[in-house]
Amino acid sequence: MVAPRNTGVDKNTPKGDCRMSGRVLVVDDVATNRLLLRAKLSSAYYDVVVAENGFQALEMARTEQPDMVMLDVMMPDMDGFAVCSVLKSREETAHIPVIMVTALDTPEERIRGLEAGADDFLSKPFNDLALYARVRNLMRMKMMFDELRLRDLTSRELGLTDFISEQEIDLELGGPIMLAPPTYEQGVAWAEQLRDRLNIPTIVTYSEREAMNLARLELPDCFVVHSKLMEGGDGLRLVSALRAKPETRQSAVILVVENGDVQTAAKGLDLGASDYIESPFDVNELIARIRSQLRRKRYSDRLRSNVRNGLKMAVIDPLTGIYNRRYASQHMLRVMERARETDGVFAVMMIDLDKFKSINDRFGHDAGDAVLKEFSRRLQENIRGVDLVARFGGEEFFVAMPDVDAQAAGHAAERIRRAIEDAPVILPGGAGEVHVTVSIGVAIAGAADTDAEAIIKRADSALYHSKEAGRNRVSFFAQAA
Ligand code: GH3
Ligand code: MG
Ligand code: MG
Repeated sequence: MVAPRNTGVDKNTPKGDCRMSGRVLVVDDVATNRLLLRAKLSSAYYDVVVAENGFQALEMARTEQPDMVMLDVMMPDMDGFAVCSVLKSREETAHIPVIMVTALDTPEERIRGLEAGADDFLSKPFNDLALYARVRNLMRMKMMFDELRLRDLTSRELGLTDFISEQEIDLELGGPIMLAPPTYEQGVAWAEQLRDRLNIPTIVTYSEREAMNLARLELPDCFVVHSKLMEGGDGLRLVSALRAKPETRQSAVILVVENGDVQTAAKGLDLGASDYIESPFDVNELIARIRSQLRRKRYSDRLRSNVRNGLKMAVIDPLTGIYNRRYASQHMLRVMERARETDGVFAVMMIDLDKFKSINDRFGHDAGDAVLKEFSRRLQENIRGVDLVARFGGEEFFVAMPDVDAQAAGHAAERIRRAIEDAPVILPGGAGEVHVTVSIGVAIAGAADTDAEAIIKRADSALYHSKEAGRNRVSFFAQAA
């Protein structure tokens, strides 16, 4: 992955930031522009690849997998807007941030770019401070998304979660937008303009402290923060405080700076602002930026919760909703540890449905599934909260019972055996009912037992004994005399 890099260091190059490097695809029809950007980015240790036109850019975005695209707006044949739209519409390139490089730099042009899916803008000639701050900011975001997407992909490959696309995100569902303006008048004006054009509630705050308090209560998805707050308040300090709090760490933050104040804008981006806009601004541009930031925020929220669900799904049996073997093995370590600490005993049970194959054969696989679900429900009803039930696979279930001796374990096992024997299972779709029984093997272990698999094996061999003795019964593992 790592290509040879130019080692010449520019005086404006941020030092000590090598780990943030990544690959940038520079697209420009003018050779001197390509050379200029290549030199600037290489001196900051970015790996640079170049394309001369839109078609080449689309091809290279796919083959080179850059971490960012810097896209000239004015190009013959296919302009930057068109290239950006195509990049954002393809699954394999949609996640790559795009910076539009414009010579015109009008609000209309920026809005068009945002609508085409651009993540950011730079105007020619370049201000190095703005250039490096923008690139660093987007690289950081890209790496965060890469990590999330990778974990999400793993969950999806395991069949644990579904694919979500950034396009499907509903912007109007979620938290409000919080505005921190420089004056009362501006606050009223911003809120009114946004209310007319965005169907998202807004909250206006007038001090850093109030902003932080309200943020905790209202959980905004997006903040618009002016660099100069009322009564000497500091917008940059607010940005940094928002980033430090877990409740607001993932929210979008758009910094508003005075026209031309690139210094503050760059500082804001480095402190964690997601984007900035220069004041006075065209409200349509602010809205376009809010929409783009909200889409990004909601998408990352969805990825994050997908990953969380994926993790949960990795230890849950999808049919019955109880834990699987992987989780049970981990849990056994804790049960054994507790027994060691308290010098106590515990019981484990292996339970297997009797002649289950014949239920499948007679009534079909769906009926078999319904029996498994119903048994798991009755099983959970007949154990204590501290006990753990798991499905080990097929029609085999496992129970771990901390602080339980042979007598109590025997009672519990009998209760479970009767819970399924006593009432037939009603089959779905009017398919009638079926009588089900289970065989159970119990093993008792204590502080001296340190091998979970050995304990489970003992319960398994007791279960085998129950089957041999005629099924529908409970057997204990006979400790070797
Ligand atoms: P025994 O009393 O000796 O345990 O007999 P059995 O028929 O229960 O045991 P056997 O191991 O021969 O068959 C188990 C059957 O369980 C075979 C398999 O098709 C079925 N089975 C395993 N997992 C599932 C499942 O998730 N759903 C359904 N419907 N059937 C399953
Ligand atoms: Mg069976
Ligand atoms: Mg079996």
